[in-house]
Amino acid sequence: MADDKFYTARVTKRTDFAPDLWSVRMNPGGEFKFTSGQYATLGCDRGDGKLVERAYSIVSSPYESELEFFFELVPEGALTPRLYKLQVGDTCSMRKVSKGRFTLDTQSGHKNHLLVATVTGGAPYVSYVRSMYKDWKEGKLTGDHKLFILFGASKSFEFGYDQELAKVAAEVPWLEYVPTVSRPWDDPTWKGEVGRVDELIRKYADMWGMAGDNTTAYLCGHPDMIEHGKGILKRKGFLKEGMREEVYWIPPKAGATT
Ligand SMILES: Cc1cc2nc3c(=O)[nH]c(=O)nc-3n(C[C@H](O)[C@H](O)[C@H](O)COP(=O)(O)OP(=O)(O)OC[C@H]3O[C@@H](n4cnc5c(N)ncnc54)[C@H](O)[C@@H]3O)c2cc1C
Repeated sequence: MADDKFYTARVTKRTDFAPDLWSVRMNPGGEFKFTSGQYATLGCDRGDGKLVERAYSIVSSPYESELEFFFELVPEGALTPRLYKLQVGDTCSMRKVSKGRFTLDTQSGHKNHLLVATVTGGAPYVSYVRSMYKDWKEGKLTGDHKLFILFGASKSFEFGYDQELAKVAAEVPWLEYVPTVSRPWDDPTWKGEVGRVDELIRKYADMWGMAGDNTTAYLCGHPDMIEHGKGILKRKGFLKEGMREEVYWIPPKAGATT
């Protein structure tokens, strides 16, 4: 690994939410600049001295000294089974430069931000919330920008950051948070919203008085949710410029064999 491009990042904490969902905090091993909503590029040796690398949205805020990530295991994937093995003290590579444009829209004049995610797609929104919460606590936030998070998962234990988001939403005037589970029959104690998150966009956007001229919409995570979500928002009058998307993977083409 060329030292000028890569850090050796060390895991300092690991939290498992489910057999295939976990978070880690990492010491990047050097200065890592980013804006909430951006991603880091992590990599592991694939066994022949070459790196396999993938993009991961950053959960932590730029105010924190460590970086936090929220991972989903793809059992047949090239990188996540390797990341899954990492315990506290283990290392992986991290490119020194952050990337991505999935940041909060402060240019259009829209004051509402509709943030829609599936599971690990909630990562950038947690970073927005952590940054804004710190600013708000320090009296640096005017509070005119409002975040509305619609967070979807099959079952409630997959949210990972549910309690953190609910706690902030209960405390501040600038955050609404609605988690929804799509398989409530597998989650009998769940008392919250049910249904796929894309199917709730219309209901909540109407309820919150959102339209293309006052709201920027963000869609992050599952590619099908993003496609459906964009269609719903377009029909509600959102223009392309008013929608941001972060597609986590490309679904294999129908009928394609591997
Ligand atoms: C900007 C950006 C940010 C991302 N942030 C995150 C993040 O915060 N957390 C996170 O877990 N992932 C995130 N991803 C996805 C991540 O980059 C990898 O694609 C993912 O971890 C799978 O890597 P892999 O090498 O294990 O699987 P691969 O070898 O890349 O994929 C194997 C197969 O699985 C499919 N696939 C990939 N991911 C999934 C999935 N989650 N569910 C179902 N099928 C899948 C692929 O299309 C492929 O067919 C992000 C992607 C992008 C582009």
